[in-house]
Amino acid sequence: SPTIGVLALQGAFREHKRLLQSLGAQVSEVRLPQQLEGLSGLILPGGESTTIGNLMVEYGLIQAIRDFHAAGGAIFGTCAGMILLARTIHGTPPQFGVQPSLNLMDITVQRNAFGRQVDSFRTSLDVAGFKTPFPAVFIRAPVIEAVSPSVEVLAEHQGQIVLARSGTLLAGSFHPELTGDARIHELFLTMSHRTEQAH
Ligand code: GLN
Repeated sequence: SPTIGVLALQGAFREHKRLLQSLGAQVSEVRLPQQLEGLSGLILPGGESTTIGNLMVEYGLIQAIRDFHAAGGAIFGTCAGMILLARTIHGTPPQFGVQPSLNLMDITVQRNAFGRQVDSFRTSLDVAGFKTPFPAVFIRAPVIEAVSPSVEVLAEHQGQIVLARSGTLLAGSFHPELTGDARIHELFLTMSHRTEQAH
């Protein structure tokens, strides 16, 4: 089974670890560039994207993760992690300036897209390829406002894109690690497995 790293700087990394372990994957925590060695896939968890991005810069992880991806590594960004994958980020509070990003996926994201009133909510999503709806928890979630033609939209919520894939990159607005439904992690393992075989 593939070895998956979970970026463990801040946010919901423990829940991802547990879910991946329940699927029989080998899982390790990533805080330093050398911990990317030997991984087939990497999960960027939810949390606070400016905080995670600043820590990534501090630990030399921006270039290291870009290199990991260029060498064939699959990456799954959830919520804040999706923001960190995007080429264009809207809605960063002005006091943060330009927030650090991996700048890898051809998507434009809008942070905190659901506003204050519905800050956090739970819903059922129709996901391309899934036979039954997926229970999704949104927590101060971003949405994908625009995608390039090479990006495949996998799920929408109220007309806004909330799950998308492009090659070995997967990005979701919500927290798939919180509901016990492992199908999105299984999909990511499949994406990572292909990577492993290609090595
Ligand atoms: N609102 C957070 C951000 O913009 C993301 C929230 C989350 O990851 N649950 O970074």
